[in-house]
Order: sequence, then C-alpha cells, then structure tokens
Amino acid sequence: MMKLKLYNTLTKSLEDVKPNSEGVVTLYNCGPTVYSHQHIGNYRAYANWDILHRALLYLGYRVHRIMNITDVGHLTSDEDFGEDKMEKGGRKLGTNDPYVVAEYYTKSFLSDMYRLNMLAPSGKAMDGDIDLAQLKEWGWIRATASIEPMIELIKMMEEKGFVYETKQAVYFDVSKYEEYTKLSGQRLEDKLVGVRDDVNVDQEKRHPADFVLWMKRYGEYSDHAMHWNSPWGDGFPGWHIECSAMGIEYLGGYISVHTGGIEHIPVHHTNERAQNFGALNKEVVELWVHNEHLQSKGGEKLAKSLGNAYTINELVDLGFDPMDIRWLLISVNYKIPLQFSLEALEGAKNSRLSLTSKLKNKMSIGSIQQGEVLEDFDNRFKMALADNLNMSEAFAVLIEVVKSREAVNDIFATVESFDKVLGLNLIPAVLKKEEKEDLPQAVVEVLDLRAKARESGNYAESDRLRDEIKNLGYIVKDTSNGQEVERIK
Ligand code: AMP
Ligand code: ZN
Repeated sequence: MMKLKLYNTLTKSLEDVKPNSEGVVTLYNCGPTVYSHQHIGNYRAYANWDILHRALLYLGYRVHRIMNITDVGHLTSDEDFGEDKMEKGGRKLGTNDPYVVAEYYTKSFLSDMYRLNMLAPSGKAMDGDIDLAQLKEWGWIRATASIEPMIELIKMMEEKGFVYETKQAVYFDVSKYEEYTKLSGQRLEDKLVGVRDDVNVDQEKRHPADFVLWMKRYGEYSDHAMHWNSPWGDGFPGWHIECSAMGIEYLGGYISVHTGGIEHIPVHHTNERAQNFGALNKEVVELWVHNEHLQSKGGEKLAKSLGNAYTINELVDLGFDPMDIRWLLISVNYKIPLQFSLEALEGAKNSRLSLTSKLKNKMSIGSIQQGEVLEDFDNRFKMALADNLNMSEAFAVLIEVVKSREAVNDIFATVESFDKVLGLNLIPAVLKKEEKEDLPQAVVEVLDLRAKARESGNYAESDRLRDEIKNLGYIVKDTSNGQEVERIK
C-alpha cells in the first residue's frame, strides 16, 4: 500500500500517516463555529480535509473521522474574553436563544457541505436534508452534546495538578507544562504580546497565558444563556476543551491526524495539546496538520468588511456552480496560500468546463461502455496524493489522461475513478443533457411549434422548423422522450 505523507507542524517535517493499533486512521477536523454563515475561506479548510479523507480511502486506508460543531464557549476573541459568539449571532438573527442560532447556522453549513459534494465525516455521501438529531451518526459532534466528557477531562487534569480555580473560572496552569509553546515554536514571553490588557481580566488569574477550561456563570458571564452544572459550579466550557474531549471520547485518545487552519497553531491547538497532556500525560495527536488560508488578492485575510468573504449562496447567485468552487479550493496543496477573487473562480470554472467539454467531444464518437482504469495514470495519481496531497500534480495527471489517445472507455473509467477523490461529479456533468431552462427563448418557442406540427402529422413543417432551430445553433433529435437538443459546437 502506498503510504500517505503529510506535513506535521509539530516536527516541521513530512511524516507518514500512522493508523491506530487496529489499523484505522483516526482523523479529527476542527469544524465550524455556528454563529454565522461560513465563508468561502472556511470551505477551503473543509475541502482540503475532504480530499484527505477520500485520498486515504483511495489509497486503501480505513478511516474513522469526526468533526466538531462549536455551539458554545467560543468567545469573540479566540482567547478568554469577549462575548460568546452564539449570543452575538443571535442579535443578527433577532433571537436571544443560542440554540436557535446554532440550529440555523448548522443547517446552513450542512447545506453548503452537501452542495460542495463533501463526504460526511462518517465517510458516507451526504444527504441533502440531514436530521440534526442524527448528527453523531454522520460524524458531526456538537459541543453541547459533549459536556459530560468535557467535565470528566477537566477532572482528570485537576487530579494531576494542572488546573486551579478562581471565583470566575477554572484555568489550565501553563507553567505546569514545559512544552506548552512547542507547537507554535513561540517563546512564552512572546505569546503574551497577543494577550489583551482587558478591563474584565480576572485578577486571580496567575499567568496571562493560562486559559479557561470552565467558565462560571459569574461576573461578566452571570447571565450567560447556555449553562450546565459542574463540580466547579454552574457555567459553560472553555472553547478548547471540546476538541480534547471529543478526540479522547470518540477516537480513543489516539488521533492519527488532527487538522485546522494555521490560525489555530498558537492558541487553540496549543491549548488542546496542553489539555491532552494534562489529562493523559501523553501526546494524543500523532500529526498536527494545518491548512494555509484562502486570502484576498492582495494577500490579506478574507473579511466581510473587504467584501470578499463570500458565502456559497452568494457565489451561486453570481452564476457559479458549486463544482467550480470545489475545483478552485482543491486544486492546490493545503500548504500553499491561495488567493481568492471572482476572476480566480472564473478561471476554475473555465478549466472545469474545458475538461468536461473535451470528454463530451470524445463521447460523441460513440456511446460509453465499461472500461478499465489505466494503471500508469492511476499510479501517478496515487503517488501525487501520497506525496502530501500534491493536488496540482493530481490535476495535471487528470488533464493528461483526458487529452491522451487511450481508448475512450478507459479514459472515462479512469476519470470516474479519480473523481472518487476529487468529488467533482465530472462524468455526471458530461452525461448531463442540455437542460431546457438554459435554452434561449427563441429556441424554446420554435421547439414548441415543432412539437405541435409533429402532433398534427405535419412533417414538412416539422422539418422546416428543424432547420430553423439549426440556424439558431442547435441540433434537434426526436427520441422516445420527445425532442432533445444539443448546441452545435
Ligand atoms: P471557524 O468557524 O471560525 O471556527 O472556522 C472554521 C474552520 O475554517 C477552521 O478550521 C479555520 O481554521 C478555517 N478557516 C477560517 N478562515 C479560513 C481561511 N480564510 N482559509 C482557510 N481556512 C480558514
Ligand atoms: Zn478544535
């Protein structure tokens, strides 16, 4: 079996993915905070990890994957101050019920994931209308559904002496973990630069880098809407604890690959690693893998204020097919910063249409029969995937096979096989008939006249109208389903 290598942020080197003792690759993806619609940048992360999942399966690995959905505890700063994001999201939606906010944006997220043809973390193809009560079976786990394991984990850390309690919160004591900043490579002194001198800062906090495991319903948070009982009083979990708790609860405390965007390196994942160590005294995560961001053309962060943090809906409304978006997001390796603009998306669309039209041309030679996957191309495709998901090479192999002089049936079989990883619905796009809605109005009108002429047996008129349609740029064929048209190329 070809071994897949990924870039490990912790060791700064390429390493083989290592399955657990049962031979299964355990995969954990940091998922969405469901307080607003996810933007195109977020979907770069999910598309990258969807490719990783599919590539592992294609190379023959067994995979157990989960993704969390953050619906509590993520404050507007990634550190421990500010408002709970769910409450902020509620103001936009006109509700003060955080569960309503979470449900609304979870559905929005799932609908985007479905349109972008992502596998569910469970490995199944998604359903267009997933019942939120069934999320766990699909591999998505909500923070609010994991409060118990989080409390258990904090208790374990407490027993080992890694935590302390103040009136406001339970903190992880970073001075107890020598390797605390190893993931980011920062020095602890430098990490403090990012810590705000907040007016609400807890005076009892011992070190500015100590982070919240459990926030009490006290002080600034005395009216916090979501809250649970705990050994430390009524309150809610800190943001980082959910990922450690789920990794231990659902993946057995061994994570082959843990993913997230690069912004998670200095805070969220640094803290998660510390919690794992505090609870189990070992590294839980074998490979920490981070995707570079989708950026603006000028290299800045995508932001609503810059007008470039598009949602999937907005891009579809502009006339893009979700598969154009997917093409753009997966066409480069996850370690390469990718610049987003509508022109870049237009470029992806053209590449996709050019590929499918090449396949259509090949198909016009005759109908497609069962073919064989071309082994040389397939091996090169697998090698590209195994090499740290070298997607530009994988796409180069795809384009090469389409242009090749191999038997058409075999080319189709090979493209269909590659598409198990790419998820671009390439063959269905080729086989799809021209849809009537896309036809110019003039063609639709003449088609209607022709249907009537044929019904009344006026074949001379029918033939004349066929020529008229031809002059409008379309060929009409009479099939058992009625008239079918194809644009003249
Ligand atoms: P959030 O909903 O903010 O917690 O983010 C969800 C996921 O999207 C996280 O894994 C982030 O690291 C990732 N992410 C956020 N912004 C970008 C971006 N511009 N490009 C790629 N990934 C991103
Ligand atoms: Zn996380």
